[in-house]
Amino acid sequence: MGIIVQKYGGSSVADIEKIKHVAEKVTNTQKKGNKVVVVVSAMGKTTDNLINLAKQIHKNPPTREMDLLLSTGEIVSVALLCMAIENLGFEAEGLPGFLAGIRTDNIHTKARIRTIDTRRILEELKKDKIVVVAGFQGISPEDNITTLGRGGSDLTAIAIAGALKAEICEIYTDVPGVFTADPNIVPEARIIPVISYKEMLEMASAGAKVMQSRAVEFAQKYHIPFVVKSTFIENGGTMVTEVDFKEGAVVSSVTLDEKQAKITFFHVPDRPGVAARIFGALGEANINVDIIVQNVSTSGYTDLSFTVNIAEIERAFEISQNIGKELGCKSVTSDNEIAKVTVIGLGMMNHPGVAARMFSALARAGINIEMISTSEIKISCIVRKKDGQKALKTVHQEFIK
Ligand code: ASP
Ligand code: MG
Repeated sequence: MGIIVQKYGGSSVADIEKIKHVAEKVTNTQKKGNKVVVVVSAMGKTTDNLINLAKQIHKNPPTREMDLLLSTGEIVSVALLCMAIENLGFEAEGLPGFLAGIRTDNIHTKARIRTIDTRRILEELKKDKIVVVAGFQGISPEDNITTLGRGGSDLTAIAIAGALKAEICEIYTDVPGVFTADPNIVPEARIIPVISYKEMLEMASAGAKVMQSRAVEFAQKYHIPFVVKSTFIENGGTMVTEVDFKEGAVVSSVTLDEKQAKITFFHVPDRPGVAARIFGALGEANINVDIIVQNVSTSGYTDLSFTVNIAEIERAFEISQNIGKELGCKSVTSDNEIAKVTVIGLGMMNHPGVAARMFSALARAGINIEMISTSEIKISCIVRKKDGQKALKTVHQEFIK
């Protein structure tokens, strides 16, 4: 008999009614003859609230205790869901991460899963129980409780599905699947029935809030197919799996990231070691740089721009100003009024001309492109923030029929 792993996110277990609804879905899956393992997130905004509590006590809470605190959110969901399942006349066994055999490294608050000892889960399944596992947590080599980083329940579900060689891993959430664009901005956007791991990863890094990217990376590495679907709507869903690039859509989705900011160094001396100095310092400060553009130099000087997440712009700007002075630049500026529009598609690999089409569509809409970056399966353009949503609609219309 096949094993099905189902993961329910925080919005799917936000209150008692919703937990009862999840219990119905889970027991129906077992009734159809499957062995069921369920992974749950903390109820609603519980994790945010717990973080807030800690911050009211300590500016920089000790991470071991932070994990102890955060792990409780998922355990509450596990216990309540098991009670709801038992109330329907089925047997359930709830397991926090450490009882489910989830062994991690010891990097508190962003631990990585190392191994899963599936003995306990399998034992309970053998007794025909529905096994409910707390997402987002494990146990370190020193026997401390760890958590897997925000959104980590996705990773728990994928990793358990891999370890159990489950038939399928179903990720239940509050949207009916992965869309071609954010439907709040582009009403014509539709659900993508099948998409590759690669595209999902690009979508996550391009600003789409679909799934934890570590979970997608893990699924790709171990070839674990999964489905993203709604807890509240029966049909729809997006299957994420290996797709041959020859069968892939030229453009499968477009995304908008309004959380970008730009720093520009004007009149930097164009000599070896300058870029290394700037990006070395940012790297040391753990600041992720996204797009980098350096102009052709004139008379030994050049301009250099790059983007970072807006949450890091102040730190990045401070570091950049100091380096600017040291290098003798004319000025260093920062600009929060930008947005990044990205088109993603596996089929881009064997269809040239996608970039030209994107640029022409933006030009026709009167939108100026400030920076461009490309990879094998994506093209990103930085535009003014005020043009971001229009740019998204424009490229969606151009590519997605
Ligand atoms: N509760 C955790 C969070 O909010 C983990 C998860 O929901 O996946 O990040
Ligand atoms: Mg989540």
